[in-house]
Amino acid sequence: LTIGDMFDQTVASYPDHLALIAHAQQIRWTYRELHEQVERCARGLMSLGIEKGDRVGIWSLNRAEWCVTQFATAKIGAILVNINPAYRLHELEYALKQSGCSALVISPAFKSSNYPEMVMALTPELVTCEPGALQSARLPALHTVICMGEDATEGMFSWEALLKRAEQVGIDQLYARQRTLEFDDPINVQYTSGTTGFPKGATLSHHNILNNGYFVARLQNFTHEDKLCIPVPLYHCFGMVMGNLGCVTHGATMVYPSESFDPLAVLQAVQEEQCTALYGVPTMFIAELEHPDFHTFDLVSLRTGVMAGSPCPIEVMRNVINRMHMSQVEICYGMTETAPVSVQSRLDSPFEKRVATVGQIHPHLEIKIVNPESGQIVPQGIPGELCTRGYSVMLGYWDNPEATQAAIDQARWMHTGDLATMDEEGYINIVGRIKDMIIRGGENIYPREIEEFLYTHPQVSDVQVIGVPDERYGEEIAAWIKLKPGASVSQEDLRAFCLGKIAHYKIPRYIKFVDAYPMTISGKIQKYLMRQQAIAELG
Ligand code: ATP
Ligand code: MG
Repeated sequence: LTIGDMFDQTVASYPDHLALIAHAQQIRWTYRELHEQVERCARGLMSLGIEKGDRVGIWSLNRAEWCVTQFATAKIGAILVNINPAYRLHELEYALKQSGCSALVISPAFKSSNYPEMVMALTPELVTCEPGALQSARLPALHTVICMGEDATEGMFSWEALLKRAEQVGIDQLYARQRTLEFDDPINVQYTSGTTGFPKGATLSHHNILNNGYFVARLQNFTHEDKLCIPVPLYHCFGMVMGNLGCVTHGATMVYPSESFDPLAVLQAVQEEQCTALYGVPTMFIAELEHPDFHTFDLVSLRTGVMAGSPCPIEVMRNVINRMHMSQVEICYGMTETAPVSVQSRLDSPFEKRVATVGQIHPHLEIKIVNPESGQIVPQGIPGELCTRGYSVMLGYWDNPEATQAAIDQARWMHTGDLATMDEEGYINIVGRIKDMIIRGGENIYPREIEEFLYTHPQVSDVQVIGVPDERYGEEIAAWIKLKPGASVSQEDLRAFCLGKIAHYKIPRYIKFVDAYPMTISGKIQKYLMRQQAIAELG
């Protein structure tokens, strides 16, 4: 099954059911209406000469057109290239060049994100050219830029104009194209978050993401009656696979609360639309729970949802269950390269396992935990590198065979770079990234353990622990702490709090109070940037 075929099936089953609510744009489309938009967009793209396998970039915040473009490119077999909305000129140029995009779809200006202006700075030829005829000196493959929004900048080829061009391509031509597609064709290039350095483009097939989106929602018992609030970026697999594909495979409703993450908009959308499910990375749930107006919202419609993307503190999970009514919330673990999820909690697991582990292996996948040096499977309970195998493993990194070979071995195991343990019932605990492990005086220290402990301090809102170079011990521990509003605790208080409760060598040598952490747009904390900053500050 290809994504286009699956989409058509859902439309046939639930034509009049709400498919998409884009709150900020005041859009409410049924599956039939969404389908109409998708077909027009697909035909418009075909009229521009876009062939199967051509790359179409999308550089946009969370808007309805994102969803339309996702299913339209899937129907015509074009490879959608998700470009990080936080990128600026230099990175945009890199992504467009690296993937060889022939068309690019962009958001209109929004707050400080003026995409049309930035694209114009990159290819000034744009303003005057006919669609399909752009000749950019810097980006030779790019022939069309499509700008969403009614205020599409003067002279730019607009989204409306694209839909209008649908007339030039018959509906039968669209379906003839769709029938030539195979389930294992590449359909999507997703860049990793860039949490540990430069993002890498993972090439994914229909098979990879369609099945994964289905299983993630299946394990939350999704039906067409569910309404999922999606505040996570669509550019990331969390939004477009777990969110959009999770909903469409079940005929459920996608709700985009705002173009970019805004905790208040999330609370409003959940209440107004009576959402039954909510997604987020831990930092998003923290922001929602700590919003000053949180208590004024009625969130009883919520049932399930997913917290994922980075370590999910037990305290935050408890709050989400108790204060947001998400009694069936689940944790997922995965990565862009595995489409993304490979481990997820189960509704019937005991409470402690559901909040304190990332759950168990996904259906139809294999995992193993190995010693990163020897490759041997480690004994139960001992940390080792998590490896994944099965339908979800990407085709490879886009145009980067060396990186692909380094990540996927001959037996097709994806080496995740994450350390994990497994217990006798198969529950997985993510210990941390290999790159983040601290080795202090020969002792392996996992930042996660210290973070979880400091979270239990009543005044601490968020905490991130890193290793910094030290002459005597090799590395020392530094904790960056975000306090709750109005809190006042000193470094000494926090060290005293640790004393006697965690081993002395795990007590942070350096403690710094911060308001924010360096973060990717998917809400992940970039510890490598914290380390660089800490090293500069420590001299
Ligand atoms: P990059 O590869 O560019 O450095 P990234 O690894 O953050 O960025 P993603 O593919 O978005 O890019 O994220 C996957 C990673 O996120 C995993 O390898 C893991 O380290 C982390 N992760 C995901 N889910 C969880 C979870 N539930 N608990 C702990 N860590 C998680
Ligand atoms: Mg990664």
